[in-house]
Amino acid sequence: MQAFQYKKVRDVAGAMAISSTAHAKFVAGGTTLIDLMKLNVERPTTLIDINSLALDKIEKMPGGGLRIGAMVRNSDLAHDATVQQVYPVLSQALLSGASPQLRNMATTGGNLLQRTRCYYFRDTIYACNKRNPGSGCAALDGYNRIHAVLGTSEHCVATHPSDMAVAMMALEAKVHLRGPKGERAVPLEGFYFVPGSTPNRENVLQPGELITHVTLPALADGTRSYYLKRRDRASYEFALASAAVVALMHGGNVQKVRIALGGVGTKPWRAKEAEQALDGQEANENNFRAAAEAALRDAKPLHDNAFKIELAKRTLTRALKVATQAA
Ligand code: SF4
Repeated sequence: MQAFQYKKVRDVAGAMAISSTAHAKFVAGGTTLIDLMKLNVERPTTLIDINSLALDKIEKMPGGGLRIGAMVRNSDLAHDATVQQVYPVLSQALLSGASPQLRNMATTGGNLLQRTRCYYFRDTIYACNKRNPGSGCAALDGYNRIHAVLGTSEHCVATHPSDMAVAMMALEAKVHLRGPKGERAVPLEGFYFVPGSTPNRENVLQPGELITHVTLPALADGTRSYYLKRRDRASYEFALASAAVVALMHGGNVQKVRIALGGVGTKPWRAKEAEQALDGQEANENNFRAAAEAALRDAKPLHDNAFKIELAKRTLTRALKVATQAA
């Protein structure tokens, strides 16, 4: 690990004053960043410790919806009463990720900014366009069982690892940022980039910008939601395929549905084709499967991960069935 300066800040203004320092990084729970520093993948020259910032509250908003501070720990968010009652898909996604110890440390902002688990990204001996732009992509001809089938490019095929972000995508969350140029809010759907020719650019954050909070919109009465994750072992494992479903029913028909997929996309993947396929349709197995087919229509398998396409279809079909039948 290379030497770095360590600065603890007490408020957002203090963080802003030094955040645009070259190669400065914010650190909160440290569950991704410190690992990657030990591997020499991340090499910040300044670490800005933001653990003292007053961004650790979960608050109901006056007009409905929920405001979640960026420093809210994953375990606190998962067990929050409002989240469990109104946004169960979010609680389920959080509890399906990592381990209890990691969830006690990991924060909302940090979870959104998790880096990929691509093994070639994490090992500096291999070529990786995300870590070292222009160097190539060892995963394309290497072992790529865990890699993406949606949103890939000839420059990068890495998945985004977050479960929480998949649930937030289906909930149509907004990410609120503060930087040297002021504040702004970005729909989560527009927060992440697909890799294209610049896989080193993963999201809209500008140098020195900090996630301050995330907002979830109010949901119509009767909205149901569910998160289903498929993985190689029952806990402490990343998704091979996952699905988040947020649905409002009218009788036996789907009045409104929002769907996102995890484990298969280069970013948390909003499945609008599946949503459109289900709009106004009867909630039955055939229609769920048709929606899943639509969601994966553009999937491109690599030589070791073709199984993910069928796995994702079955995962989404099952998640739709559970979400639309929930009491
Ligand atoms: Fe790097 Fe992306 Fe290729 Fe993995 S898939 S080696 S992260 S460029």
